[in-house]
Amino acid sequence: MPAFICTACGTQYPDSATPPAQCVICEEERQYAPPRGQTWTTLEALSVSHANSYREYEKGLIGIGTQPQFAIGQRALLVRTPGGNVLWDCISLLDAATVTMISGLGGIQAIAISHPHFYTTMVEWARAFKAPIHLHAADKQWVMRPDAAIKHWQGETLKLWDGVTLIRCGGHFEGGTVLHWAGGADGRGLVCSGDILTVCTDRKWLSFMRSYPNFIPLSARAVAQIGQALKPFAFETIYGHYFDRVIAKDGKQVLEKSVARYIAAIEGKRGY
Ligand SMILES: [Zn+2]
Ligand SMILES: [Zn+2]
Repeated sequence: MPAFICTACGTQYPDSATPPAQCVICEEERQYAPPRGQTWTTLEALSVSHANSYREYEKGLIGIGTQPQFAIGQRALLVRTPGGNVLWDCISLLDAATVTMISGLGGIQAIAISHPHFYTTMVEWARAFKAPIHLHAADKQWVMRPDAAIKHWQGETLKLWDGVTLIRCGGHFEGGTVLHWAGGADGRGLVCSGDILTVCTDRKWLSFMRSYPNFIPLSARAVAQIGQALKPFAFETIYGHYFDRVIAKDGKQVLEKSVARYIAAIEGKRGY
């Protein structure tokens, strides 16, 4: 029996003879069902219609995305650290070339995902690479395909190994998580942010939303909390969730000024 994948958000559901009646993730206020109605695919069909492509951003960091764009369109990151390889965020398509390439680079020792919109086919990736999946426990209700590989962590940080830390920021989702690699950006540190910190289209600022497609803002309190969560960490570069959404320099200062701009706007202190 196939494990159906929602074509609007990329979430894979457990094996079933017929597709689910609706997608729980798309029906919720942070996502949407497309105007054409809900449609479904399978990993097998997706491997024929689409292929993955790659971009090496810096030593130890390779982006993996699907062409043509599928569902939300995020790209994952293979974070190659001295302590092991992490798959950061996930995409629905795990094709043969991707398995071969990642295996050649030492496989995957841990999978970590920012929030439920990117859980996608995480179970397929975990099985292919025999890797555990680290998800924040606050978002447990949004796991659509449960599996023994999923480890729910609690609290504010989880150190995967030396220099690689998952940080719970909340915001977009209660368990919204980013990854900090101290050795990235030539030792100045980097953050993989998904859309918990969204790199804006101008690539000079960050923003923070409960829903991006439905334009639901966060509170000042929630955005201040995101800034607080990252305070103890040094970083130069921020990698958002699309191939071109990268803040190359001064990431720490960009976060601080973006939090301040957002809070001033939502509190009506910017004159609009
Ligand atoms: Zn969906
Ligand atoms: Zn999202």
